[in-house]
Formats: sequence, structure tokens, C-alpha cells
Amino acid sequence: MKPQVPIEVDAATGEWSVDGIPMILVPRHFFINNHLAIEAALGAQKYSEILFEAGHKSAYVWCEKEATTHGLQGVEVFHHYMKRLSQRGWGKFRVESVDPQTGQSRILVSNSVFSIGHASTPRKTCYMFRGWFPGSLEFVGTLLGKRLKLTSAESQCAAEGKHDHCVFETRSV
Ligand SMILES: [Zn+2]
Repeated sequence: MKPQVPIEVDAATGEWSVDGIPMILVPRHFFINNHLAIEAALGAQKYSEILFEAGHKSAYVWCEKEATTHGLQGVEVFHHYMKRLSQRGWGKFRVESVDPQTGQSRILVSNSVFSIGHASTPRKTCYMFRGWFPGSLEFVGTLLGKRLKLTSAESQCAAEGKHDHCVFETRSV
């Protein structure tokens, strides 16, 4: 199967982009090795907290741009985001439930790059995703005229060795 996202490459600069947003294509092992090196230096708890803020902000901005680019309304933006993440190789994201009014949701992730990268260690590994769901759903909230403040947690992870997929849940802070 060919890529499911419209990748553009600028002939002059060599920059890659999808929907007008610059992208970097990197080997997964490079990305995971960087991730593990930072985790080892900071500790998973501290690293997770830093990633939450950075991921939340990036998801919010991405969703804002994509909503404009594609003319998406309300919770369509969140579904589009989950589809694009799935198409870009992070794993397969499936929305089991979402309430755009409260931001409460339950997302199933199979083939998470982090659970694959950490397969030998039985623990929850996919905390980089934590901020992404609240960031996107808070943006959906602004489209609906609401000021949501959300958090999220991975309630089960495929890397724990007991499940075939990961589960994230979002809720109000
Ligand atoms: Zn996981």
C-alpha cells in the first residue's frame, strides 16, 4: 500500500510536508533510540510530564491548522487527527468513544511504535501519546464554545504483555 497522506517535497529546499505542515521522515529505530536515551536520563515520570505539555500544544496547533485546511467541524477534527496518526505510522488509533461536550474519550491503539520498541520490558510505554488526545479535544471544545481542561492516561499497554493493544482515556482535570 502506498502512503495514505499527501506528501509534498519542496524541490528547492528539500522540505517534506503534509497538508502544508512540515514533516521529517526518520527511521523508527533512530526515533526510539533518542526517546529511550532521554527517558534514561530524566526518568520516565519526569519525561512523561514534559512530553505531556509539548504533545498537548503540538496537537492543539496541528488540529487548528487542519481544521482550517480541510474545513472540519467539531469532533470531526479529532477523528481526522486519529486517522492521520494511524496513516503516519505511529500505530492504529481507534476511537471507541468520545463525548465532544466533556472531552471524555476512550481510544484503542494497536501496534504503537513504543510498545513495539519496548517489547522486552513489561510496562506501560506509550506515554508520549498522553498529551495528544487532550490537546486535540480541547481544540474541539473551543470550536464548540467550551473551555475544556483535560488530562489522559494509558490504562493498559500492549508492552505489559497481557493485552494486544493499548488503551488511553481522557477526562476533565
Ligand atoms: Zn502502550
